[in-house]
Amino acid sequence: MTTPDLRQITSETMAACGATIAPGAEGGLEVVSPLTGQPVARLAVQDAAAAAAMVDRAQAAFRAWRMVPAPRRGELVRLFGEELRRAKADLGRMVSIEAGKSPSEGLGEVQEMIDICDFAVGLSRQLYGLTIATERPGHRMMETWHPLGVVGIITAFNFPCAPWCWNAALALVCGDPVIWKPSEKTPLTALACQAVLERAVARFGAEAPEGLSQVLVGGPETGEALVDSDKVALISATGSTRMGRIVGPKVAARFGRCILELGGNNAGIVCPSADMDMALRAIAFGAMGTAGQRCTTMRRLFVHDSVYDRIVPALKTAYSSVTVGNPLETAALVGPLIDRAALDAMAAALEEASALGGIVHEGGRVAVGPETSVYVRPALVEMPVHDGPVLRETFAPILYVMRYTDLDEAIEMHNAVGGGLSSAIFTTDLREMETFLSARGSDCGIANVNIGTSGAEIGGAFGGEKETGGGRESGSDAWRAYMRRATNTVNYSRELPLAQGVVFDIG
Ligand code: NAD
Repeated sequence: MTTPDLRQITSETMAACGATIAPGAEGGLEVVSPLTGQPVARLAVQDAAAAAAMVDRAQAAFRAWRMVPAPRRGELVRLFGEELRRAKADLGRMVSIEAGKSPSEGLGEVQEMIDICDFAVGLSRQLYGLTIATERPGHRMMETWHPLGVVGIITAFNFPCAPWCWNAALALVCGDPVIWKPSEKTPLTALACQAVLERAVARFGAEAPEGLSQVLVGGPETGEALVDSDKVALISATGSTRMGRIVGPKVAARFGRCILELGGNNAGIVCPSADMDMALRAIAFGAMGTAGQRCTTMRRLFVHDSVYDRIVPALKTAYSSVTVGNPLETAALVGPLIDRAALDAMAAALEEASALGGIVHEGGRVAVGPETSVYVRPALVEMPVHDGPVLRETFAPILYVMRYTDLDEAIEMHNAVGGGLSSAIFTTDLREMETFLSARGSDCGIANVNIGTSGAEIGGAFGGEKETGGGRESGSDAWRAYMRRATNTVNYSRELPLAQGVVFDIG
């Protein structure tokens, strides 16, 4: 695919979503497709002043939107889900163009948006508070949940739209306007999603205030303007742990709320009783899918000594035969890395692993399309030690494999890293499975059995512990972060008894 083709496909796809690309001047933000490594558009960058104006618009929108009954707010999200269904193919293509994902993964990401809209519509009638027993006669105690305020959403390049929607669909039914600062590497998908949402807003009518959902295009500095604004009640930030270390303290310093969804260093454990064929397929998808550029990508694998010589040769075969290529032109399973910096980080990690005695299989660069694009074969590394690059997230397709003999020892190594996002055990042994899921098992926010580390469903709360940031979004009760809770005690008696039997009699 030549660059003019891709540029044209980009502008046609954006137009089909109802989005126009307002061209940026020289020095604006150049959007590069990793499929070819060449620019497909140039956008104007919005600065701190633009961010402040957006926040003011969103605050005004909040005053109106919080008074719209939650089930009505759900109706807007229902209409958005309908529009997403119509725009699915186009949005999926934008994900492929900007993030380099295969059509199936691009469509899958849009499907996640549709799924969370459905979830949020139901939720709009279930924003339940508790009724709580009170110790005082003639009193009633209850919780009420109110809209929180403006929600700032910062997202990473590798999931250009689904995480926004996990936040936005919930925030909208909870009564909160949203401002989205997408990755500077994938702003077009964001503008396309916003245009699709605007179609739903137009159908919904005047009850939806201006400024309910906005997109802020720019890099880290633009994101910081959002982070620093004390008019933004909640910052939900997805990205690297490096970013979280900056954003988290800033939001905390102004007593704002923060959901951090940061990097992981996810691992799997293959036990002697595992269904080896199933484990192999799950590991292959978990480690090589999306070219290793998922927050939940499997990066470490602990294999029991007794099955090491069965699983590792099979993995080597899978690594040497997996197809790498432009996923819009071929049926390749592994697409491009996002950019040259990702290639450099991968090469440095492999070099470091070799220096520690690691045996590296595959992992070389593949010539696909223009030289500006970066395609690699995923690397499988047999490591004699759990050390060095194994201990950190390198955002590229590298799977470090290590032997273990005792499950407790494997779990200890499994947990001995900064990341705490996703984990998996492959076993048919009930004791091993329950140990892994128990309090002394995996310390991650996601712990799976006989499933890889990636590919979560929206119904569960998504997120992880430790350097992954502790945030939860998407399903379960994640909605609570987007609302403020009030505890109400009502006295319907003719007395004024004080709690804990305290007496304060003014006669
Ligand atoms: P990144 O941290 O470079 O950027 C993420 C976003 O943060 C971008 O929008 C960027 O502009 C913004 N940003 C960066 N510095 C900022 C600052 N100081 N203030 C405000 N905003 C700032 O991450 P990336 O390279 O786009 O994405 C890959 C990383 O994201 C990986 O570490 C991956 O594990 C992680 N990730 C985590 C999850 C999750 O749910 N836990 C999901 C996807 C990606």
